[in-house]
Amino acid sequence: MASNPAGNGCRIGVLPDLLVNKIAAGEVVERPASVVKELVDNALDAGATRISVAIEDGGKQLIRVTDDGFGMTAEDLRLAVMPHATSKIGSDEDLYAISTMGFRGEALASISAVSKLRIVSRVPEAVEGNELRVAGKELVAAQAAGCPAGTTIEVRDLFFNVPARRKFLRAKSTEVGHINEQIARVGLAFPDIGFELTNNGRVTHNLPPSAERMGRIAKFYSPELAEALIRVERDERGVALEAFLAPPAQSRATAQWQYTFVNGRYIRDRYVQHAIKEAYRGLTEPNRHGVVFLFLTVDPHEVDVNVHPTKIEVRWADSNLIHSQVLSALRETLRKGSLPAALRPSTSPTPIEPAEQDRIRREAAMSLKALSPLRPSDPPKYQRLESAASTGRAMAEDRYPGKPGVDPTKVWKSLYGEPGNVESTPAEHAGTTTDVSTTMFPPATTARPRAIQLHELYLVTETDDGIVIIDQHALHERVIYEQLRDRITSGPLEAQRLLLPETVNVTSSQIALLETHGDLLRSLGIEATPLGSDTIAVHAFPSLLKDTDVVSFFRDLLDFLAIQPATVEGEAVLHEVLDMMACKAAVKAGDVLTDGEIDALMRKRHLIEGSSSCPHGRPTMLHLTKRELDRQFKRT
Ligand code: ADP
Ligand code: MG
Repeated sequence: MASNPAGNGCRIGVLPDLLVNKIAAGEVVERPASVVKELVDNALDAGATRISVAIEDGGKQLIRVTDDGFGMTAEDLRLAVMPHATSKIGSDEDLYAISTMGFRGEALASISAVSKLRIVSRVPEAVEGNELRVAGKELVAAQAAGCPAGTTIEVRDLFFNVPARRKFLRAKSTEVGHINEQIARVGLAFPDIGFELTNNGRVTHNLPPSAERMGRIAKFYSPELAEALIRVERDERGVALEAFLAPPAQSRATAQWQYTFVNGRYIRDRYVQHAIKEAYRGLTEPNRHGVVFLFLTVDPHEVDVNVHPTKIEVRWADSNLIHSQVLSALRETLRKGSLPAALRPSTSPTPIEPAEQDRIRREAAMSLKALSPLRPSDPPKYQRLESAASTGRAMAEDRYPGKPGVDPTKVWKSLYGEPGNVESTPAEHAGTTTDVSTTMFPPATTARPRAIQLHELYLVTETDDGIVIIDQHALHERVIYEQLRDRITSGPLEAQRLLLPETVNVTSSQIALLETHGDLLRSLGIEATPLGSDTIAVHAFPSLLKDTDVVSFFRDLLDFLAIQPATVEGEAVLHEVLDMMACKAAVKAGDVLTDGEIDALMRKRHLIEGSSSCPHGRPTMLHLTKRELDRQFKRT
């Protein structure tokens, strides 16, 4: 047990100031981006109209924030770095109606405890400004200085006296990514303020003041994304709301594309998150997340921001009101059908027109006739076209001519490799008779297909004691996942080089992911390089996904990687990614399968037996026992 440094036998000691401040700093100053946030918040509170941020070495070496706000006097400077010193609140009541970004009076004290801090400031009325330098809480200099009106705060050598924290800082590019994200958040919240970001002497963002937010969304994220957004504005029951939302079809793999601000402050709030989720319910797949930028303005009395040191969480006076206002505004917008046709939600595959279905049926009949000596009046009862791989495939393709977007050999290839790869075809398929007349009317024992496909989605088959209904996508996804998992242990997945690289618009923090997850991407057969500060070029892609949209897969992948906590093992991330790939590569509802494919899939059905739901929590198969059926039919 530690004893009191005073040596008077008392076990409890009051901690020295610097240590107290370092502890406090641990809450507020996590990384360079948190310093940027605090300094920019201060500039906003000082009424700045232009704010410039300069960083060097990912902010580890230098962070400098310059504003044209109302500045500080020499006395202010001295107080500003003291703990619990603030000009923003003075009484209890103030705390319940915060209208500034800061109020805790802790940021500068915390930052000065863990870095070398220099502040230069002048109030507009004074002819001369003042400078203050502090290092690890130690006053280094306080003197008059010539400077423009406003304030410049420089933070050098962050965590120079907290080696443990310094060690936890990530690659420069990662830290720059976090800083960019902070700038993006304030930039979106305050479009009427000009922002500039300089990284190692190069201006990376220059945003003149603007009357609207859309332009900033385009700048920070992508013009493509901004174009798809629908704007909605409302002011009801004390909640003013402006939202930009993407149509359901553009939903993303994670919820990180949901930005919420209240009174200019970026927050994360579960009531709002839930309202967004509800608004998109039924319009997207259950595991997708809408893209929403939401700006709320409420009376400061209605929201308590004194919940968390970083002020990222709030408490609402009336959370139901917030929930219902957000939900109804978003829901109505999404439902209004004001979306351009191409962007309207598609929750189910586009149904085939009856005329088209007829045509397909006719053509299928013709091609079957051409192949077999069937009597014209004798429609095939069982289309068991199982055969050597190539014949089976040729016929399969004939059976579904013109069905858009369906590659009937997709399952086959994913299971057994490229066409003609007869060796890897299971014995039951290889070498079975190709005589169509006998396959049409085979002996009773093998006559019936192992399973039939219903509604282009469900595979139904008989079991010893009943029937099972399997979701074809879920099963195929599982099969591919198992294969990927086996295959990846013996080296990178097979990749396909793109003739022309595909470009993906990303945020600069996502670019950093290329580096952080370099090994993972290589093992998946993905080759991608940064192209400027907001674009990634994809040069090679896993062959397995060649029918998938490269851009959307890549975007989902980056979204997913971005939310992986640093503590998660690489292995766990890999398996999640394989899962995602399997989902993309698997047949979907609406994909017509050949009998060969159905059989091939059914042979692997043990893979989902015992796991009754897929990774997204949906059931994968349904088992109806004969006894249950009998009971339903009152046979017992
Ligand atoms: P808080 O913002 O919570 O008040 P800080 O430690 O961030 O606490 O800042 C302490 C005080 O220093 C502020 O209340 C403000 O009076 C002053 N200050 C800090 N930055 C600036 C700035 N850029 N311009 C003018 N005053 C500032
Ligand atoms: Mg502050």
